[in-house]
Amino acid sequence: MNILILGGGFAGVEAAIKLRQYKHEVTLISDRDYMFIYPVSIWIPVGKRSFEDTQLKLSDLAKVHGFKVIIDQITHIEANKNRVHAATQTYAFDYLFIALGMGKVQVKGLEHTHSICGKPEESVVIKDLLENLITKGEGHITVGFGGNPKDPKGMTVRGGPAFELLFNISVLLKEKGLRDRIRLTFFAPMAEPGKRMGDKALGKMGSFFKHYHAETHFGKKIKMFTDTGITFEDDSNLPSDLTLFISGGDGLQLIKDSDLPLNDTGFIKIDEGCGVEGFPNIYAIGDAAAIVELPWAAKQGHVAEVMADVATYNFNNTITGKESRKSYHDSLHIICVMDSGDGAAFVMRTAHKELMIPLPIIGHWLKKGWGWYFKNSKMKRMFRIPGM
Ligand SMILES: Cc1cc2nc3c(=O)[nH]c(=O)nc-3n(C[C@H](O)[C@H](O)[C@H](O)COP(=O)(O)OP(=O)(O)OC[C@H]3O[C@@H](n4cnc5c(N)ncnc54)[C@H](O)[C@@H]3O)c2cc1C
Repeated sequence: MNILILGGGFAGVEAAIKLRQYKHEVTLISDRDYMFIYPVSIWIPVGKRSFEDTQLKLSDLAKVHGFKVIIDQITHIEANKNRVHAATQTYAFDYLFIALGMGKVQVKGLEHTHSICGKPEESVVIKDLLENLITKGEGHITVGFGGNPKDPKGMTVRGGPAFELLFNISVLLKEKGLRDRIRLTFFAPMAEPGKRMGDKALGKMGSFFKHYHAETHFGKKIKMFTDTGITFEDDSNLPSDLTLFISGGDGLQLIKDSDLPLNDTGFIKIDEGCGVEGFPNIYAIGDAAAIVELPWAAKQGHVAEVMADVATYNFNNTITGKESRKSYHDSLHIICVMDSGDGAAFVMRTAHKELMIPLPIIGHWLKKGWGWYFKNSKMKRMFRIPGM
């Protein structure tokens, strides 16, 4: 039986680990030779974490868990023909787990911006540009995020990392004694950025912006980015020397060009067991999948891992003739520790509860501790707490 996993991020790696626990032989294909731990990458631009320390080598994970890794770039998926094409060769499969993550909405002039949510190397570019501005000792940094016009419910918006980056930069500027000389502005096209975290969290964002000396610019659609700033729909302009922008999420072109069933934003349609609609031998997990549109659902790392668990469980029970099935709907909630450089806030939104608890100082160390735990538990150097 030939089981392929496409993608070596949160979803792909967790699927490989779980499939090995069920004693299946599995091959994971990724275009990078490492898993990038995005949640702690927010500290790379401010020099609190190295690029190398934010990775887990796929070869090390493969050795510890016993799966096979191939570094190759997938170029085309032919689901109906049970094969995927890649830069070096074509791979046939009996069962496929698609965990390729997501792309981003193209906005005019996007090349004048830099994103913490794009290619991992971009975090180092941001660090260098930030250092240049700090050396210069003056300027204007703008940090923002956008949505996807085809996604009115905001399922593809990734605001948390933009807030984290903004607050961390503010703390860095304070440490350098430059808060009065380098202006910091947060911008977003929506009137209430951060609403997905819940009304309680949204209500508290104003005091965060004030505390971290960030000006705000909300509610105007972005027309384009230029090398001198951001132009909005009414042709007003926000000057910027360094624009850090997280564009709305979009389905990868490679997925859009495939014969898989897609929603309007180009994500793969799945059932609650993570099975791809119309393809009993294919599962889609993590950011690449179209998750159910609920106010307390968001594309997050822990959701990607839940989906990997659900998909592999259902796959294993299907082929071993067991009836029990899992649903990823049961584990949907927004949960994160939003770091601010000198503290954090614990944010939770479930079907029944909304919470935002400020965690001065300790919150920052909690998130740092999570990064350490994540790496070591994935490498089996320590016990893994169920669900984390
Ligand atoms: C800056 C940042 C901070 C975040 N903070 C948090 C947080 O605090 N908590 C939280 O829960 N979530 C957080 N998230 C979200 C979380 O990181 C994502 O939801 C998660 O990474 C999704 O996992 P994935 O496996 O679906 O995709 P990814 O992790 O993006 O992995 C996709 C994989 O597919 C591979 N790939 C892509 N295209 C190809 C191709 N053509 N051929 C071969 N391989 C390919 C990539 O190399 C990668 O290995 C954050 C995200 C970012 C960007």
